[in-house]
Amino acid sequence: MNNLRTVAVIGGGISGLSTAYALYEQAAAAGIPIRCTVIDAASAWGGKIVTHRIGDLVTEAGPDSFLSQKPAGLDLCAKLGLTDQLINTNETGKRASVYSQGRLHELPEGLVVIVPSQLGPFLRSGLLSWTGLARMGLDLAVPANRSPGDESLAAFFRRRVGRQAFERMLEPLMAGIYAGDAEQMSIQATFPRFIELEQQYGSVIRGMMATRKAGSTALHSGPKRTMFISLKNGLSDLVSALVRQLTDRGVILRENCAVDALRVRSHQPGRWMYDLILNDGSALSVDSLVLATPAYVSAELVRPLTPIAGGLLEMIPYASTATIAMAYPRAAVSSAAEGFGFVVPRAEGRDLIAATWTSLKWPHRAPPDQLLVRCYVGGVGREAILKLDDQALIARVRAELASMCGVTAEPGYVEVNRWIRAMPQYTLGHLERLNQIEAALSRYGGLVLTGAGYRGVGIPDCIRDGAAAAERVVRYLLGERS
Ligand SMILES: Cc1cc2nc3c(=O)[nH]c(=O)nc-3n(C[C@H](O)[C@H](O)[C@H](O)COP(=O)(O)OP(=O)(O)OC[C@H]3O[C@@H](n4cnc5c(N)ncnc54)[C@H](O)[C@@H]3O)c2cc1C
Repeated sequence: MNNLRTVAVIGGGISGLSTAYALYEQAAAAGIPIRCTVIDAASAWGGKIVTHRIGDLVTEAGPDSFLSQKPAGLDLCAKLGLTDQLINTNETGKRASVYSQGRLHELPEGLVVIVPSQLGPFLRSGLLSWTGLARMGLDLAVPANRSPGDESLAAFFRRRVGRQAFERMLEPLMAGIYAGDAEQMSIQATFPRFIELEQQYGSVIRGMMATRKAGSTALHSGPKRTMFISLKNGLSDLVSALVRQLTDRGVILRENCAVDALRVRSHQPGRWMYDLILNDGSALSVDSLVLATPAYVSAELVRPLTPIAGGLLEMIPYASTATIAMAYPRAAVSSAAEGFGFVVPRAEGRDLIAATWTSLKWPHRAPPDQLLVRCYVGGVGREAILKLDDQALIARVRAELASMCGVTAEPGYVEVNRWIRAMPQYTLGHLERLNQIEAALSRYGGLVLTGAGYRGVGIPDCIRDGAAAAERVVRYLLGERS
């Protein structure tokens, strides 16, 4: 077929796979026949999404759930026929705690969005002192910052709610998601909603209260979803379903195949052929190319085309972390394990970032006589612990659990998953950097970047951005110069 257009997607994580999926949908709708090849260096598809099934245990090495409020994840599950596999978090025991000043403090429901739904339990939790609480309340009076520049997450929240509320409560909940350092993280790129609330309501707390009220009166259709949702047998079912559908649609899937280099040729102004040099020495030439690889990989690939874009991409730092899953006999830990788990503020100076009582949060993940916990270590400025070998790392994590919540039992099952350069950091100026990268790449129509390194690290963000990347490719193939 003469008008068949070729596209390659490099990287078969959720970003790359959902780009390829959207590409087929959108190209079909636009009437463009395409042949798409998805290439991944690893032997398994899914990138960071890795589910392990060990007997009756289901563990997640990487992500264990995704936000239901961002529709892209739910929508993709529906298209893939996975809706009946979606699970809510356990309705009972829906609580999280913060480890602060030598003990766990329970966070009342709703605190994740700053304003506790019930003030009484929050006051009694003792997490904040009276002066800390009073300073937090000053958010209602502190004038909004009207200057348009970026601000660190730490600076924004210290300014609004004070140091104590920020350090003890918001830092572990918000920076923890990115395994990041709130002093370096960009509020514009990570939690822009709070800037909007400050601008619109003059106060983050007032804004949260107003939007919560509006949300509670809004009509919701479909089944009720908790804030985080997952798939019953693990998130890798999402990957398998995508791979199945892509295969059925004739997408060529090449695993164990790294792209070593990228070259570009042009036969007419504004139109390019992209030549991929693969690790087996062969080459693949395509009309359009999506790089869904981590930014530091994409940096090396685009550097020969534009050193400026290469340099800017390389400036997006990535943090390393590890997750340690342990299964205990339930009776041995049931008195210590409460709620969904706890987070640990950076200011505490501990090894543990957070611990999730996985099988209390998702009861299907372990048989009733066992309790599965997942611990997180590492992150920006706390990566030294990852130099330990597995035995030493497990010993450190167990010592943390013993001192923080009294778990001293011997786990019957342990697994360590190391994630080196895995969590992109949206540091100050991130959005401006993205604009500069776009500008530097603008002459290469048909070359599109997507992935967790740019416009959201969560699974729904990656799916949404993948669909947007597919749209750009289709527009290019239709002949619109970007
Ligand atoms: C420990 C951990 C916990 C997380 N928890 C959550 C969570 O609970 N909820 C949530 O929403 N998000 C979570 N995230 C974030 C989310 O999982 C990731 O942001 C997302 O999965 C990244 O997807 P991606 O496709 O952009 O990148 P990746 O998954 O990194 O995929 C990139 C792919 O590119 C391939 N590749 C690299 N170089 C080359 C090359 N030269 N040639 C070919 N292929 C190459 C890699 O093999 C990889 O498969 C978590 C992340 C981690 C690490």
